[in-house]
Amino acid sequence: FQPNSPHARDVRYHLHPYTNLKAHEEQGPLIIERGEGVYVFDDSGKRYLEGLAGLWCTGLGFSEERLAKAAYEQMRKLPYAHSFAHRSHPAVIDLAEKLISLAPDSISKVFFTNSGSEANDTQVKIVRYYNNVRGRPEKKKIIARKGSYHGITLASASLTGLAYAHKFFDLPLDGFLHTEAPHPYHGAEPGESEEDYASRLAQMLDDMIVAEGPDTVAAFIAEPVMGAGGVMPPPATYFEKIQAVLKKHDVLFIADEVICGFGRTGNMFACETYGLKPDMLTVAKQLSSGYLPIAGAMVSDEIYQVLKEGSAEAGTFGTGYTYTGHPVSAAVALETLNIYQERDIVGHVRAVMGRFQERLMALGEHPLVGEARGVGLIGAVELVEDKAGKRNFDAARKIGARAAQLCQEEGVLLRPLANDTVAACPPLIIEPAQVEELFDGFTRGLDRLAGELGV
Ligand code: PLP
Repeated sequence: FQPNSPHARDVRYHLHPYTNLKAHEEQGPLIIERGEGVYVFDDSGKRYLEGLAGLWCTGLGFSEERLAKAAYEQMRKLPYAHSFAHRSHPAVIDLAEKLISLAPDSISKVFFTNSGSEANDTQVKIVRYYNNVRGRPEKKKIIARKGSYHGITLASASLTGLAYAHKFFDLPLDGFLHTEAPHPYHGAEPGESEEDYASRLAQMLDDMIVAEGPDTVAAFIAEPVMGAGGVMPPPATYFEKIQAVLKKHDVLFIADEVICGFGRTGNMFACETYGLKPDMLTVAKQLSSGYLPIAGAMVSDEIYQVLKEGSAEAGTFGTGYTYTGHPVSAAVALETLNIYQERDIVGHVRAVMGRFQERLMALGEHPLVGEARGVGLIGAVELVEDKAGKRNFDAARKIGARAAQLCQEEGVLLRPLANDTVAACPPLIIEPAQVEELFDGFTRGLDRLAGELGV
């Protein structure tokens, strides 16, 4: 790099999240300078279709004027206010009301945080508080799933079921367990139906709860469609059976809709898509279309009533952040939700998702693709060395990362995940022609990879 180029300065000063730091010194950053609709532009002016909506978040794309205006106006009117100790402000009140009006029926209150990680961290705290107030202090273990992603604070990284979130960090903390997640492609027995596979997974959860002792297990958390773990839509009947197990053992259900929420699966929440009745619901990302940091830990009235009693005894519900319900983030989130409703974003997703899934499934025929899977406007392909034997490449070859790199060269930004899975999750506003453009670039990238590998 030129000594004072942005690339050189990035390498010199910037400690990157989720990056192989050693490789970064060689490779340097892809510097994105501006956005327009579903596109972003790098510092050389090259245009990319943002096929992952940033990090699964920019539902409204990269140039929504109304969001910029909402932020500017709120910043001029009241740039900061808090909601500790009975204080409040209009932006947070309006947002809370709107969010509860959209949320599944079981949910009645929202606690705001700045990130999905903090929201799930707060859910862990709420679960503990709830059981302590109810006089069941031993009921505090939380079961998450292998391969899940729930965030990266100490508690939420403990929920996360991915090795890289634990290695060298002394995680997970005690009391965080991981059960098998559905991955029919590798996990189902030959000839096993989706329903039987789902029953087997539900039985594994039941067995784990019984082995640990139901009196010690407080909650179960799941993404309706697992995102960062490889885009795994649930097999038929999975959540129905899981929820029955949770009910049987009096275990709370936390639905993590951080990726799925706000239209991604063709309904406002994936809870609708898959018939979930959660006690707690986590939202983030598309809540503000990613324009400002804001997230929510949402709870049922039954939980709220217990928190209320506990706070009276303790003197306060002793958790919250300086920026909980930040007025500028709240104003932008409210405007985001208004736009989703006014433009019928769910209707738009339904109109384009058929073609999105059709093109995705067609990639399943590609010689490198073992499985294509998805729902709504989210999907992924898993690359394999041996299609018949469903055998992945040696992880050290980083085939998925190479695929994403080649797609990037072809003008489409995608995300490589574990098991050489490459994910697409474009802005919800994507138009039909752009769906074609996304998959044309995806296909060219995979074809080039096949050429390199001599397949
Ligand atoms: N939950 C899910 C399902 C996520 O995908 C993510 C982030 O990707 C999080 C939680 C954590 O959110 P954040 O990165 O805002 O802390």
